[in-house]
Amino acid sequence: MTSTQLAGNLNDDEYDLHSQANVLASISHEVRTPLHAIMGLSSLIEDEPISQNARRHLEKIRIASEALLQTLNTSIDAARAGHDTLFVEQTPFDVQKVCETAIRMFALNAEAKNLDLNLNFDSRLLSQSLIGDPNRLLQILSNLIGNAVKFTERGQITLWVVLRRNKGGIQEVYFSVNDTGIGIPDKYLERITERYVQVEHNQKGRPQGSGLGLYITKKVIRLMGGELSIKSSSSGSQFSFLLNLPTDPKQPIPRDLRCVDNMVIRVIAKPGVVSEVLRDQLAGLGAHVEYYEAMKEELLTQRRELTFVDYPTAKSSPKLWAQLKTLYTKDQLVLLCSELAEECLQLEKYHNSWFSPYLPSELITYLDSAGLLIGHQSRTAKFENTFANTPLDRSEYTLLAVDDSPTNMIVLQGALDKLGYTKTVKASNGQQAVDHFHKNQNIDLILMDINMPVMNGIEATQIIRGAGSKIPIVGLTALSEDEITEGGHRALFDLVLTKPVSSEVLAKTVDALLSGPKVIAGEVQ
Ligand code: ADP
Repeated sequence: MTSTQLAGNLNDDEYDLHSQANVLASISHEVRTPLHAIMGLSSLIEDEPISQNARRHLEKIRIASEALLQTLNTSIDAARAGHDTLFVEQTPFDVQKVCETAIRMFALNAEAKNLDLNLNFDSRLLSQSLIGDPNRLLQILSNLIGNAVKFTERGQITLWVVLRRNKGGIQEVYFSVNDTGIGIPDKYLERITERYVQVEHNQKGRPQGSGLGLYITKKVIRLMGGELSIKSSSSGSQFSFLLNLPTDPKQPIPRDLRCVDNMVIRVIAKPGVVSEVLRDQLAGLGAHVEYYEAMKEELLTQRRELTFVDYPTAKSSPKLWAQLKTLYTKDQLVLLCSELAEECLQLEKYHNSWFSPYLPSELITYLDSAGLLIGHQSRTAKFENTFANTPLDRSEYTLLAVDDSPTNMIVLQGALDKLGYTKTVKASNGQQAVDHFHKNQNIDLILMDINMPVMNGIEATQIIRGAGSKIPIVGLTALSEDEITEGGHRALFDLVLTKPVSSEVLAKTVDALLSGPKVIAGEVQ
């Protein structure tokens, strides 16, 4: 039975949220384990010397896995929302990074439908550290962008992020996802954020999706102090909300990224939203933008420090394009490859090819390579500081990795090797882990899978703790947060990580635990 049918048969009160939550918890466990292997192995291959084509395919695997993880989390959240047990975090995060990730997640779907997917991001918010919940914000944006891509057949989707005002360190940020899709008929608009409500569009067959996305999105935005507003007509929809996000007080002085004064940057591209967004972003960074809709002879006589040309325009004037290439260095000429990416790559491999979606962080890299950015130096300084805070010689430490799945072990060992933790002892169940622990007194940290045959990770950890050991033990689990907390086992471990675990989180966790008692209430500080 589909969820739509269920909704038809049962009203809210009758619906058994508990059994729904239980089914979801076991599905979640079964899906997370293989997903962890897919994501982990892909990340290991990324470091191999592979062809550019293979790398692009790998990127697609990564994006697909993230989307699957997102779907899983949405289903669990819907069950939680029914119980009113949704929660949001308050942690420093980079709003630009979250928005770019949301766009990247749907870039391939949009490309497959020949839609332009844009991010128009207020330059005053570039690389700002704000306080809020990055995962929840990503969830909201990916629901809205995912829907926009799903219900748009031609035209474009744009995520607008605008700083409305900065009031006493609180940034009022406006987010809006606009599409040129089929729209939502008036009679549905009032109810569209209710559970399982879907428009019966004139599509063949059952509507795609679960009808839960907007229900959760609305609830999460409310939890974050905002309100979802929806406007829709037959020419498109707009989903927007305002959030008050405090500036991170620990952030180094916010950087004012901008172009070198009086810099003229040229954009040669067919008219449309893509070139408009690019021009907006450049203007936001203080550049003077000189715009041409087509190639012209005069372009050869006046030189500019940086020129962006879109592929169709370059292709339609091959002679002028060839001449232009002789005039500029690689850093001064960037080809915009929003369409025909493969063809673009083949023909233009000796020049800078910038693939859509054109994200602000990439624009900054191009401006920086051309030497046109002020304020970028401090960004480098910030990263250098981050590393300076981690004077850990990872190769000195011996870690015990415990997992019964050979695939998970390959992922774990590979991730540790990649990080420089090269001394790893392996065990394939809790009993072996306990034996290793008794034999090898030099172990500095244990990464313990929780669900294993012979002896599970909880029993093994109880025995090790029972022997009076304070060795850091990180639990690795495919169970949900709730199940671990409900079982009362969280306190046994220094930290519990839910699979799939990225190598970034693994590094942060292991480094933090090895460099001192910096773990507070289950969070790496
Ligand atoms: P799902 O997309 O999984 O069906 P949602 O709750 O996210 O669930 O959306 C509910 C319904 O609202 C969709 O099935 C669709 O009919 C309508 N909808 C949502 N976003 C859009 C959009 N951008 N354009 C047109 N219709 C939309």
